[in-house]
Amino acid sequence: MYLQINALELESNLTLLGLSPSDNGRVITCNVENVVGQTEAYLQLNILFRPTILELLEPLRLHHWCIPFSVTGNPKPELRWYHKDQELHEQEYIKTEIHESTGSVHHGCLKLVNPTHIHNGQYTLVVRNEYGEDRKEIDAHFLLPPDTDYDTGLTAVYIVVGIAGVALIGCVLMVIILKYGRNSKFGMKGSSSVISNDDDSASPLHHVSNGNNTPSSSEMGHDAVIIGMTKIPVIENPQYFRQSGSMLKSDTFVQHIKRHNIVLKRELGEGAFGKVFLAECYNLIPDQDKILVAVKTLKEASESGRADFHREAELLTNLQHEHIVTFYGVCVESDPLIMVFEYMKHGDLNKFLRSHGPDAVLMADGQHSLMVELTQSQMLHIAQQIAAGMVYLASQHFVHRDLATRNCLVGENLLVKIGDFGMSRDVYSTDYYRVGGHTMLPIRWMPPESIMYRRFTTESDVWSLGVVLWEIFTYGKQPWYQLSNNEVIECITQGRVLQRPRSCPKEVYDLMLGCWQRESYMRLNIKEIHSLLQSLAKALPVYLDILG
Ligand code: AMP
Repeated sequence: MYLQINALELESNLTLLGLSPSDNGRVITCNVENVVGQTEAYLQLNILFRPTILELLEPLRLHHWCIPFSVTGNPKPELRWYHKDQELHEQEYIKTEIHESTGSVHHGCLKLVNPTHIHNGQYTLVVRNEYGEDRKEIDAHFLLPPDTDYDTGLTAVYIVVGIAGVALIGCVLMVIILKYGRNSKFGMKGSSSVISNDDDSASPLHHVSNGNNTPSSSEMGHDAVIIGMTKIPVIENPQYFRQSGSMLKSDTFVQHIKRHNIVLKRELGEGAFGKVFLAECYNLIPDQDKILVAVKTLKEASESGRADFHREAELLTNLQHEHIVTFYGVCVESDPLIMVFEYMKHGDLNKFLRSHGPDAVLMADGQHSLMVELTQSQMLHIAQQIAAGMVYLASQHFVHRDLATRNCLVGENLLVKIGDFGMSRDVYSTDYYRVGGHTMLPIRWMPPESIMYRRFTTESDVWSLGVVLWEIFTYGKQPWYQLSNNEVIECITQGRVLQRPRSCPKEVYDLMLGCWQRESYMRLNIKEIHSLLQSLAKALPVYLDILG
């Protein structure tokens, strides 16, 4: 920006050159001062510019049909739609809806309720304000006309018959598996081998057969909530079937720690299940008398709560990796039940990012002057370690379902590990969305298929990893912080993605976009993400010592 000040005797002019629409909303402060005192005045920039259509996308089927668009312009442009060059007159069944406005950018839909073949064809959007206009076209195909030719009709019949045939064979196979599978060595072994979970979001790490967790048809038969234009099935009691895989081995040996060996020092935080304390633990490691640990307590353990606790302990005992927080064992001599973990000096990653961001650095006066803003290479180093932990989880056919910076921990020398065990929900309750009775969903980290169909897979974890990258490069901002939960659901299901953070290199944002492909099979593979992050991190040296 180029400034030119023409000083007159009593009046001065400030000329601003080279402004662009992105400068809209910036505040100019005028500060005048002489020997007697000082005063200030503010002015907010309001830059007027012609409208542009940023995006006009093919129709999407949500609860109704939607032709998504994003437009910009100041003053807010007037929108007109044309269908096959005829102006569309909006009414209840066809109308423009603006879902979100950020500054002078407006996102919305041309909503069509039950369109038929009559509505097929070219749609033109024209946006106009007093400074100019812009237009864009898109082709829309909602339904085939009723007089579709014989061949196409016949093909449709073949497809329907084909699908029915496959479904019939599937049913027969299911019956056979249910009848004979119960007694087979690797099949479902009745209730004793079923991992039941009253609250599907309470247990963070889920071992999922085939790496896929599509709800069964009976689960889909449950209630649904309608949020905006999206119908979300509410599944209160998903059941995960134990496999013969490596995680939940029947012979898992969970280490038991004596209560008198644990000396509590101070509280570290509180989660949904209970308090977390810093403690000293004696006689835990052969060559050390005592070590610092983090102990998590389980308050008011019911019968099923205790069962979940033991299952989780078995599961954690089998998860061992340099980027997964170390689980040492349990103490169940009396209430409260305790889990003992390695102590990670700098606590959760979200808090850590916020305290090493520009806001924290600005606030850091004399006493906190050691606070240093994270560099890009440090951010990459953090991201790369989380990706390494996720590669391991995927190799174990584990689906995390709740990967977020609040669920990662930071130790000395910027060592980062995945460490969520479903206990962060109270502190970060605004990160979750409650559906049905007590199910909390981290929707801001979830891809469309998890929001709409509760489908959680290694690929949906990849989506969440993309959001974690975004959190890292925004110093711990909440994704879509400017939107309500309902708006976030609309936004994600409509295919919109988070914007590139200011301090994020293009290569890293491209990686995020690779995690946020709508079709899960199009997303980057976790191993690819890890090696990309590794090579980006290698390109820039990391100076760890500044963090102390
Ligand atoms: P959680 O219930 O797991 O979210 O833990 C609550 C808080 O306790 C977190 O926000 C962390 O700051 C802290 N905390 C949890 N686990 C550890 C750990 N292993 N080492 C250090 N701090 C921890």
